[in-house]
Amino acid sequence: MTKDWYPIIDYKKCIGCMTCVKFCPHKVYSEKNGKPFVKNKEACVNQCRGCEKVCPNKAITHQSNISSKKQSPGCSCDGKNSSTGCSCGGKC
Ligand code: SF4
Ligand code: SF4
Repeated sequence: MTKDWYPIIDYKKCIGCMTCVKFCPHKVYSEKNGKPFVKNKEACVNQCRGCEKVCPNKAITHQSNISSKKQSPGCSCDGKNSSTGCSCGGKC
């Protein structure tokens, strides 16, 4: 089953402070090139918004916040890309 609750990072807003990476106790995030990425979305706890609240730049949303689902060609995020960001690690 495809996980439908996990954080989505807006890389235009993210300042790379790593607060989210340090905060999440479920190791959903990892770090790559000075920015966080969602490595293990299956581990994200349904309805948890902990990292969303601690992000100083409001760069994190969750899938259900977003009404329109768009997918860029070649995107690996399972069609859960959006205009506000993508959880595929910035590949789309
Ligand atoms: S807490 Fe927000 S600004 Fe900081 S690294 Fe995470 S997404 Fe980026
Ligand atoms: S929403 Fe909660 S469980 Fe999911 S990544 Fe953020 S802190 Fe971790």
